[in-house]
Amino acid sequence: MNVVVCVKQIPDPADPGELDPETKTLKRDSKLILDESDSYGVEMALQLVDAAGEGEVTLVSMAPNNEVGGLRTALAMGAASAVLVSDEALAGTDALGTAKVLAAAIGRTSPDLVLAATESSDGYTGTVPAQVAELLGLPSVTFAKEIAVDGGGVHVKRQTEDGYDSVECPMPCLVSVTAGVVEPRYPSFKGIMAAKSKPVDEVTVADLGIDAGSVGWAGGGQEIVGIEPAPARESGEVIEDEGDAHERIVAFLDELKVL
Ligand SMILES: Cc1cc2nc3c(=O)[nH]c(=O)nc-3n(C[C@H](O)[C@H](O)[C@H](O)COP(=O)(O)OP(=O)(O)OC[C@H]3O[C@@H](n4cnc5c(N)ncnc54)[C@H](O)[C@@H]3O)c2cc1C
Repeated sequence: MNVVVCVKQIPDPADPGELDPETKTLKRDSKLILDESDSYGVEMALQLVDAAGEGEVTLVSMAPNNEVGGLRTALAMGAASAVLVSDEALAGTDALGTAKVLAAAIGRTSPDLVLAATESSDGYTGTVPAQVAELLGLPSVTFAKEIAVDGGGVHVKRQTEDGYDSVECPMPCLVSVTAGVVEPRYPSFKGIMAAKSKPVDEVTVADLGIDAGSVGWAGGGQEIVGIEPAPARESGEVIEDEGDAHERIVAFLDELKVL
């Protein structure tokens, strides 16, 4: 069974991010790392391929400056190879443009299953996976907290607000996974050494047959019109007990509609 995992490489969340005042987007010229959200998809894919007893895991990433730092981490976990789409024409690409690029890269392979995270840690629109599925003409299942493959389909426990739905879907399909679907492994020393020589196919927008005018700033259907600091958190209300604290707390929770 061949599984493709969409892997986003993001600025290290441990370093305070910086916005470019001109483009109003996050600066991504520093080293990028594997988005932790995607380490769950990589682990899930490795376990599914192991269980199937054949096949391999391929990573697909779109990132600036031919960045492979995050891909090497996922290769060290056990993925076999990667496709990296990097091209100056992609600067300013919005979520739909990203989906077009990922779909074109995935379309060059014939995976049985495509995995992505439910949302990335930096952009977190949570829109890319469903758009990739639509562009590839694949059915998609979102918010998977458990995946099993049986015959020609996947059985997914799909996280809901009050539990989960059991969903069955024929393959090929795209499934987006939640954090916690599996516990990602730490790359071993052997894995890290092996990752250095695993193939990373670097491709451009032209290689994928995508018109450069349909991605990047030129192709953007979204525009960032303003940025402002998040409001500081307001201090909470301290309730001193004068015999009626319980009533005031109940009234407060009632107002929040949590009762
Ligand atoms: C006007 C505009 C300009 C922008 N300009 C830039 C820019 O110049 N540079 C830039 O880096 N970002 C830019 N962005 C942000 C960029 O569009 C989003 O980060 C990107 O589209 C993915 O959206 P997301 O992170 O919200 O994805 P989500 O939908 O939250 O991601 C869910 C999952 O989809 C997969 N996925 C998402 N993105 C990728 C990827 N790149 N590679 C592989 N898998 C992926 C991953 O599995 C991810 O966990 C811009 C956004 C806008 C609106």
